[in-house]
Formats: sequence, C-alpha cells, structure tokens
Amino acid sequence: MNHAANLSDRRGRALRDLRVSVTDRCNFRCEYCMPRDVFGRDHRFLPKNRLLSFEEIETVVRAFVRLGVRKVRLTGGEPLLRHNLEQLVARLAGIDALDDLALTTNASLLTESRAHALRRAGIRRVNISLDALDEQIYRNINRINSPLADILRGIGHTLGAGFDSVKINMVVQKGVNVSEIIPMAGHFRGSGAILRFIEFMDTGNHNHWSLDQVFTAREIIDLIDPVYPLQPLDANYPGEVAKRWRYADGGGEIGVISSISQPFCGSCARARLSAVGEVYTCLFASSGFNLRAPLKSGAGEAELAERISAIWRGRRDQYSVDRRSLRLRSGGGKMSQKVEMSYIGG
Ligand code: SAM
Ligand code: SF4
Ligand code: SF4
Repeated sequence: MNHAANLSDRRGRALRDLRVSVTDRCNFRCEYCMPRDVFGRDHRFLPKNRLLSFEEIETVVRAFVRLGVRKVRLTGGEPLLRHNLEQLVARLAGIDALDDLALTTNASLLTESRAHALRRAGIRRVNISLDALDEQIYRNINRINSPLADILRGIGHTLGAGFDSVKINMVVQKGVNVSEIIPMAGHFRGSGAILRFIEFMDTGNHNHWSLDQVFTAREIIDLIDPVYPLQPLDANYPGEVAKRWRYADGGGEIGVISSISQPFCGSCARARLSAVGEVYTCLFASSGFNLRAPLKSGAGEAELAERISAIWRGRRDQYSVDRRSLRLRSGGGKMSQKVEMSYIGG
C-alpha cells in the first residue's frame, strides 16, 4: 500500500524531511546544547550496543522514503564520532528516491581526506556550526580546548571537496556573540559558504534559555544591512526554514532562522530518528515513538512504514507557536521535560 500520496498530519503537513542522529556523544560541550555541568564525567551516554546498526538505520530510512521523505540529514551529537560513517552514507546514497543527503557537524574531525570520503560516499551538502571567530568567545561558547584554526581548516577542506553546498550555522545569543555577527559576515562573504544565523532556542532542559537572550532575525538583518547592504531573496522551495538574503554587491547570500521570533511550525515537514530508534515529531517533544522494538523483532520497511504513517497522522506538534502560552502556563516554573537536542539531532 502506498501511504506517501496523501500522508499528512493533523495540521495538514506532509512528511518530507528526516534527521538521523547517529550518536548522542560529542567532543564539544557547547553551553547552549551540552553544558558541562550536566554533560560532565558522570553523564551516561548510550552504550555502543544500543545504537542502531547501519543496516537498521537504512531500513528505517527506506520506510520513511516510502512515505515521501526526500531529504535526510545525518547529525547527532557529533556525527563524525560514529565509526565508519561513510559506510552508512554509501548505503543511504543508494536509496533511489532520496534526492538529498546532508550532514551537520562541528567540523573538528573534518580532515581533507574525510571531507573527500564523505563526498565520494554520497553526502551532497554540509552544514558546519561555528559561533565566533574570536578565539576567546569561541572557546567560551564551545567549552573545548581545541583551536579555532582546526575548525577553519575543516571548513576549508569542505569547501574544496565539491559539495553542492556548504553552510555555516551561527547560533546568536545576546551578551555572548552578537559582536561576532559582522566579523562572521565579513569572513564568509565571497567564500562560497552560506552563513546562516540561528536564533538561540530553548531546546532541552539545561541551557538556561530566556527570551531576553534572543537576538532576533530582524535585529541581525538590521545590524548587517548598514555595513553590507542586503536584498531579500525568494525561498528555494516552499517551507524553507531559513529566510534568504543576498549581499547587494554580489558577495553571496546569508540566511536567518527565526525559530523564536517567527516560528515556522505551519510548514514543518520534519521527523527525527534518535540513535536508538525512536521517532520524534518535534524538536521540543518530551518523548518519542519506539521503532526499535519492532525493528529488533524483524519488522521490515513495509511494516515500519505503516507504523510511521500512523505516528505522522496523529501529529499535532507546534511547540514554537505555543511556546509563549506553554511557558506562561508553567508560571515561570518547570516546563515538562524536553528531549535534549544532542540526543535527537539538531
Ligand atoms: N554536533 C553537530 C554540530 O554542532 O553541528 C551536529 C549536532 S548540533 C545539535 C546541530 C545544530 O544545532 C548546530 O548547528 C547547533 O549550533 C544547533 N543548536 C544546538 N543547540 C541550539 C540551541 N539551543 N539553539 C539554537 N541552535 C542550537
Ligand atoms: Fe556538540 Fe553540536 Fe551540541 Fe555543540 S551543538 S555540543 S558540537 S552536538
Ligand atoms: Fe517543527 Fe516542532 Fe520546530 Fe515547530 S517547534 S518547527 S513543529 S520541530
């Protein structure tokens, strides 16, 4: 039975896009994602034998593709920590109906040969996270002891490896790295990489988010425009998350992702698969749907597709639209626990 033709959730949204977390581990401890006081020595990461195998991930992805998914992004945690990731990439690249295979990484492990190997295996687009060019600000955010020069080298290798696109993701936080917006714009103008500014989000339960720390997409554009004049661009496709702008002098384009100030839940066509095999239908969900058990008891693509179809049909998520009322309802007290972004994949 073909479910893809008319699969939509309870708000009429299709399923097009899947993020696959291949590990919950990371070699960074970004304050906004995996703060050290929570993800320290005592934190228990998933044991290796709990992770889905590459074969199992492929089976689940094939089930999603049956339902209309055309874009898959590998993420984590830090996906390059997963051994032999290229083998998974090659498996997924062999799925006919999949148009787009992408990777999000902190680039710390992106050597030149790794970048080329990922490209050869079938990664088409790479997003790299980088929040500052000032070494001290960079370290204050990422809380690691590895030099910024390594990341910039990783970006260089990626730009030279022939990917269809390379994007740099910068999470902007008031009082932390607003001063880095113009230097980052200046650095990546004309580089071939598209810089995207992301509003700081209240993901997970530990990043001490408050609205006061959000520097909005509008404020970002208003800051850049007088220095490097900008013109708005049309979206590449309906429902594109980033709003696109081009430099008026031809220096390339940037994007702004306004998850807080202008939520885009109305067109959210994205599901997430955790490294152990749970499906999450929202980045801010408290729990996922277990595909692991059926997978382990031998369910194939068709049966998994039936299950995913039922999950998607029941979906109502729109956390970012409801954020204000949910937070008000909690009276400034504890919100219900959300899954961690490093666990389900950003
Ligand atoms: N480790 C990889 C990396 O950093 O690129 C992939 C996983 S990371 C969770 C994916 C993306 O989520 C990164 O671009 C990161 O900056 C973003 N992110 C994490 N926490 C965030 C937050 N609180 N607000 C906005 N973006 C966040
Ligand atoms: Fe690691 Fe990425 Fe989270 Fe930073 S944002 S801690 S690099 S998973
Ligand atoms: Fe999609 Fe949830 Fe983000 Fe809204 S808050 S855009 S439903 S992931």
